[in-house]
Amino acid sequence: MSTLAAAPLVDSFGRVHNNLRISITDRCNVRCFYCMPEKGVEFMPRSEILTFEEIERFVRVAVTLGVNKIRITGGEPLVRKDLPVLLRKLIDIPGVNDIALTTNGVLLPKLAGPLYDAGLRRLNIHLDTLDRDRFFHITRRDDLGKVLDGIALARRLGFGPIKLNAVAVKNLVEEDIVPIARFCRENRIEPRFIEFMPLDAQQLWNKSKVLTADEIIETLSREVAPLVPVADPDPRAPATEYVYTDGGGTVGFISSVSKPFCMNCNRLRITSDGKLRYCLFAIEETDVRGILRSGTDEELARTIRETVSKKWIGHEINSSRFVAPPRPMYAIGG
Ligand code: SAM
Ligand code: SF4
Repeated sequence: MSTLAAAPLVDSFGRVHNNLRISITDRCNVRCFYCMPEKGVEFMPRSEILTFEEIERFVRVAVTLGVNKIRITGGEPLVRKDLPVLLRKLIDIPGVNDIALTTNGVLLPKLAGPLYDAGLRRLNIHLDTLDRDRFFHITRRDDLGKVLDGIALARRLGFGPIKLNAVAVKNLVEEDIVPIARFCRENRIEPRFIEFMPLDAQQLWNKSKVLTADEIIETLSREVAPLVPVADPDPRAPATEYVYTDGGGTVGFISSVSKPFCMNCNRLRITSDGKLRYCLFAIEETDVRGILRSGTDEELARTIRETVSKKWIGHEINSSRFVAPPRPMYAIGG
């Protein structure tokens, strides 16, 4: 690589980017209402999806620019054929210090073993409820049992840390907060409550449907055990972390709506069809698939750098100027 690759990825607000989220598919085996439409989803043609070789090359170049943390997401990453092969390739890249995967867990009973063998350890498993009917209502699939089996298997195999992502939707999951928190305490899993964000395909979101972090903290403090902010928070982590005062573990909150954390953002995303995005909510995106298919590493590095340099100060969910991105969550990669 040329000198283009020497300096870290810094945007015009001084934020250094070392964290890359890679969506490897827009396909999914469930249909969460806050992400996908129930029927008639048009997935991207396979020819438009980046190959493993293209993803690996992208990461190799990104690493030369200071990227060292990677999260694989989707769509549902476990539906992508031969995922353990991709993980092995990425884990083996010198400079990749940390690799994690976000999954809905449905295929974990089948794939947790091969993923572990490939070297993966960090898992975020998405589960909003322990109630079978509400699970069906949210995901439009009757797969709660598979997710619970997948979590149990992942624990037995020794994955860690395992975190559990629960989307906080008002007038829907209030009853689930306490059971989810207790389940996590019993299983030594950190729950992360994620405020419902305006990224759903059916545009059902409005602010009154967001169950906020403060509301959840109050419920858990009252019904499980008192929660206090962690003593030494990582300012660059998207989740605000709290600990139970009785030693029962940590709880994370992604309060993108009630307390946006844009000024600490160190993340860059690439979609499964090779579009680079400087923000989950970005409207503009930069094509890198063309460069991966017919350009040089230097062009790729320059394009990554230019994309980061164009990054806005932050999303404006709480302003009347907010415009939801044209891609819903499953097509961006959460
Ligand atoms: N399919 C995997 C899963 O569900 O974990 C990975 C992709 S999914 C888009 C990544 C995360 O986005 C999920 O864990 C879920 O918690 C979160 N998510 C999806 N739609 C959301 C929304 N509208 N608001 C907030 N979080 C959302
Ligand atoms: Fe699929 Fe994940 Fe979206 Fe649910 S949140 S529909 S599991 S991609």
